[in-house]
Amino acid sequence: MGLFGKLFSKQVCAFCGKEVGAMHHSKMKDGEYACNECAAKCSEFVRLSEMDKNTVAEHMSFMEKRSGVYNSMFSGKSQNTFFNNRRNYGLAFCDELGLVAILNFKKNRINTEVLRYDEIASYEPYYEKTTQDGKEIFKESGIILRVLPAGRMMNDPEKQRGLRQHPYITRDMKLCFRTDEKETDYADNAAAHLDFIFGVNDSKRGLFQFGSTKEEKRQIEAGAKMAGMLGSAIKGAVTGNVDEEKLKEQFAAASDAADAANTGGLLKYSKAADAALAEV
Ligand SMILES: [Zn+2]
Repeated sequence: MGLFGKLFSKQVCAFCGKEVGAMHHSKMKDGEYACNECAAKCSEFVRLSEMDKNTVAEHMSFMEKRSGVYNSMFSGKSQNTFFNNRRNYGLAFCDELGLVAILNFKKNRINTEVLRYDEIASYEPYYEKTTQDGKEIFKESGIILRVLPAGRMMNDPEKQRGLRQHPYITRDMKLCFRTDEKETDYADNAAAHLDFIFGVNDSKRGLFQFGSTKEEKRQIEAGAKMAGMLGSAIKGAVTGNVDEEKLKEQFAAASDAADAANTGGLLKYSKAADAALAEV
């Protein structure tokens, strides 16, 4: 079939069976096709050409589930939402669920993209200029989020702490917040909330703050929990009277506290996200 033949030939969507023309479908890795409506169920940060039909189908149900958590569990909970206008992107953080929704006001997707906090490997606000009539002018600004793709590890093991791989996304998620420089930069506020989640400033002391930092408090708590558990275990061994239930509880508390200290406080968000995703 020549170029024109290909351009005008009809293909069948592998998901809904609809017949679609060349301009209205995406070709998957295995040569099968997805119509635009079905493709809109996928994340905008993946490429169908890199996935086969089965992977795309799994990805669609993954997206549906996460979007379902957003629709059914975010409302009524305290959220920190940042966006500039209803034309670009925004972020809605729900600390109680350990999840963040990417608000796409272009609404060209069916499912809302939701990330677990522990899937965010890095983030940075960006600011772009462009040249017009020989002059540099503001183009846009926003925030870039990065995940750890499946099968990959962080170069710096310190940064790996508590982090989970994202099963599908491999690319940077560049989220434009504003294209007008006169508007306030809410992407900065979103970055500040991410700093708060990831405890970026946890090891720094405020100028007039003389107590322990958050990080030190987590270390102290982990030590105390461990000592409590060891105390019970030794007492049990000496008296021959072991309270197994209490010991189990203390062991769980001690390992949680140690994990919290080791993951910079991310553990509570991981547990919250596990619980939320188990409900839908
Ligand atoms: Zn379809």
